[in-house]
Amino acid sequence: MKDLATRTQALVQSNIRAITLLLEGKNGINLGQGICDMPTPDAIKRGAQNAIDSDFSIYSHYGGILELRQALMDKSIAYNGIPVKNTDEVMVTVGSTGAFVAAIFTLLNHGDDVIVFEPYYGYHVNLLAVMGAEAKFVRTTAPNWEIDFEAVEKLITPKTKAILVNTPGNPNGKVWTKAELVRMSELIQKHDLYAITDEIYEYMLYDGREHVSLASIPGAYDRTITLSGFSKTYNMTGWRLGYAVGPEAIISKMGLLSDLIYICAPTPLQHGVAEAFSMNDEYFSEMADAYERKRHLMCTTLEEIGFNVPWPQGSYYVLADFAPLRKRFSGFEDDMAASATLVDKAGIGTVAGRSFFNNDADGSQFLRFCFAKEFHVLEDACIRLKKAFLP
Ligand code: GLN
Repeated sequence: MKDLATRTQALVQSNIRAITLLLEGKNGINLGQGICDMPTPDAIKRGAQNAIDSDFSIYSHYGGILELRQALMDKSIAYNGIPVKNTDEVMVTVGSTGAFVAAIFTLLNHGDDVIVFEPYYGYHVNLLAVMGAEAKFVRTTAPNWEIDFEAVEKLITPKTKAILVNTPGNPNGKVWTKAELVRMSELIQKHDLYAITDEIYEYMLYDGREHVSLASIPGAYDRTITLSGFSKTYNMTGWRLGYAVGPEAIISKMGLLSDLIYICAPTPLQHGVAEAFSMNDEYFSEMADAYERKRHLMCTTLEEIGFNVPWPQGSYYVLADFAPLRKRFSGFEDDMAASATLVDKAGIGTVAGRSFFNNDADGSQFLRFCFAKEFHVLEDACIRLKKAFLP
């Protein structure tokens, strides 16, 4: 038979998903894939149930139901400080991944360069590869993951079309500072670049940090597409609802593209998440407190066991360095071995570090732990880890 399309030949199962499949039916605890399996708020569930009962069952506008776009516009102005002018600058997508796909297919030509900060979220980089864009990497390092703007400028050539910002970051929890975003805004204007920002973890922040959106910095909005979603904030990763905010000229093309690919996001579920905006602010403060406690438990447990732990500034992942464990245990030769060892010895799933780096060797001493679990599940996971790796 003839070969499948060239663009799919390099595609393999991601390490993020692989761990979920590996643990299925094994009574393990999955701290790998960021599945966020706490309950979805009742108001959202009821909203979707009512919409289904009311037969809100047909396609919505390809950019989403107006009520939700309006709510997202208000939220983007109030929480993010983004100067959205009208609902045509907002679109609802199938997950923030759907928004990312629409953004890159709208902005980039085959062969364009995109600057990406390492460690990165692998789905970003793999999707860029599938569409034929070239990722150019700028390394950031623990514990603060500062941005080396000189390194960024050195990579910029006439082929460079866009820069990808992920704040708070997956897998390292980096929260971009306002000063960094101001420099980034200057840089994209100076070099006539677009920015795509993935802000899906925008409400998971630690030690009093604030979330700043690049699009809120003067001069950035016209060339920035801001992506986010409901999955993480409201524990509904399987509903697949995200959104994009940006200048109308870009968003309208992204909408046409989404229309071609999947017509619209599921209508009754859009009615469900619209209810999120009637919930009171306590939801966010309670979530913030719960994540502070979970981060503390996860990071102190890993430190006790001997990992080097750059405590995340935001998001709900920690990219921990297991190199110190090699002196005490076998099975930690590299990230794949370490990930398998944690499954075997403790029943704990994690993601191998190589998933977040261009060269496998750069990720070979890291594992990513996700602590978006119910507190008692995380406690159980930490007990299992300690039993396996403490004397
Ligand atoms: N964003 C989540 C993660 O990094 C899950 C999405 C996925 O399965 N790729 O784990």
